[in-house]
Amino acid sequence: MNPEPTAQKQFEALPISRMAKLSGWAMYRSAETYVWRPQSADEVRETLEIAKDSGRSVIARGSGYSYGDTALNGENITVDLTRMNKILQWDPQTGVIQIEPGATIYNLWRHTLPDGWWPTVVPGAMSPTIGGCAAVNAHGKNSWLKGTFGDAILSFDLLLANGDMQTVTRESDPELFHAAIGGLGLLGVMTSVTLQTRKVPAGYLLTRHYHAQNLDELFDVFEQRLAAQDEYLVGWIDGFAAGASLGRGLIEAANHPEMEDVSTLNPATQDLSPNIAGVFPRSQMWRIMNPLFHDAPMRLANNAQYTMVAKYGAKMKKTPMAQFHFFHDYIPNWKKAFAPGGLRQFQMFAPAESAKILFRAALQATHDAHIPPYLCVFKRHKTDPFLLRYQSDGYSLSLDFRVTRSRDIPLQKLLEQLRVLVLENGGNLYMAKDDFLDAASFEQSVGADRAAEFRAIKDKLDPAWLFQSNLSRRIMPQPLGEVILA
Ligand SMILES: Cc1cc2nc3c(=O)[nH]c(=O)nc-3n(C[C@H](O)[C@H](O)[C@H](O)COP(=O)(O)OP(=O)(O)OC[C@H]3O[C@@H](n4cnc5c(N)ncnc54)[C@H](O)[C@@H]3O)c2cc1C
Repeated sequence: MNPEPTAQKQFEALPISRMAKLSGWAMYRSAETYVWRPQSADEVRETLEIAKDSGRSVIARGSGYSYGDTALNGENITVDLTRMNKILQWDPQTGVIQIEPGATIYNLWRHTLPDGWWPTVVPGAMSPTIGGCAAVNAHGKNSWLKGTFGDAILSFDLLLANGDMQTVTRESDPELFHAAIGGLGLLGVMTSVTLQTRKVPAGYLLTRHYHAQNLDELFDVFEQRLAAQDEYLVGWIDGFAAGASLGRGLIEAANHPEMEDVSTLNPATQDLSPNIAGVFPRSQMWRIMNPLFHDAPMRLANNAQYTMVAKYGAKMKKTPMAQFHFFHDYIPNWKKAFAPGGLRQFQMFAPAESAKILFRAALQATHDAHIPPYLCVFKRHKTDPFLLRYQSDGYSLSLDFRVTRSRDIPLQKLLEQLRVLVLENGGNLYMAKDDFLDAASFEQSVGADRAAEFRAIKDKLDPAWLFQSNLSRRIMPQPLGEVILA
């Protein structure tokens, strides 16, 4: 996709030393972009001026953990916020924290855990930043109960395209509050975020595995665990299982213990040993995994995982919270196991009434295309109050596919087929994981009214469309009449 110059200026040269190639986390999308790494809100503001003077657009970037191109801005400017990572204020009595946007989920929980607090909602990896999680409105394994990351936000400072800084709360500006959270960095740059964390009695969760022999059972077990009010729930599906076993999988349920155990609030209790089985350096595991990331070994691995846990995994155990929440971090850099082609994740959200039909059809489509997903994750959600929401009262299923040269085109066809299935079944797609939706399907996913409302807010706050990304140029192109070409 060719970037469009945006401001009413000539497209001017920028220092080549600023140019870098950045990728989405999944390594499938990348872009050459000019990178600034500010250390303060004033420096972010200066970068906006540089962008305006050179006729470029700007996008904020956190850790680059979005799978696709939300934080890519080819030939334009990227504001990498990871140097703005300070804790600004912490109140251990109330659990309210004000934090810079480039601080990570890791920085957050390491700071709050010793006082008995934990982020209310976290994604499945701890490197994403607070700004990145707010801008995509990330969900966790308890989103069915606690909502999304945005629900725990009390306020944020938003640097607007005109250089003004606005402190936004639910009460002060409900429209902007609900549009900028989940707004994909397209309304401004968050320069600080104030969050409500949640009290926890201990540094571990009581976890238990259940297994399901097919998709019907998987839904049944989930519904039972929801009725039992298990706070955290996540399902894993064996993407290779077919026929009567289609959708077989495991469910992990977790709850905070009732009794306090302050000795386990020490962050060190959360750390994994640097070696697996005392021998293999964890940091090097992806090298061992890389040659195994093909269909036959992955079929065996999925089968072994299901069989082992179904047989021996049903006992309740104490699991350190970080190890439960961030299982993707067990193997540092595990995405490199998918090198050189990278991976593409397709995460579909469906209302409860159509989820089973949709997920069955989607899993069957992967079998028919002979492109098995190597990792499939299943979660429960509730409708959130944000403008560009992607969650409804229902379920999500994410499918991770390996990209290879011979699979590239068939995989694209499969993803397009899945996209149609999701939209026909009233489902939604999540922009943090997307890399190929177009404007029409984005509108269908989020709803035409909501997309138009977001555009209207953007036109008001950012009339020259200073904030853009490769993703926005796909799903929400700037109205043609307003583009002034250099
Ligand atoms: C292994 C793995 C597991 C994951 N698990 C989950 C999960 O369970 N649930 C879930 O919801 N997501 C999950 N994600 C996705 C991840 O949480 C989101 O993509 C998140 O946005 C990443 O944060 P980041 O700091 O890397 O943001 P980036 O990817 O760098 O940016 C994401 C978006 O945020 C915007 N942005 C960043 N900082 C700011 C700012 N200060 N102001 C305004 N806009 C900003 C960017 O412009 C971009 O649009 C996972 C990702 C990975 C790689």
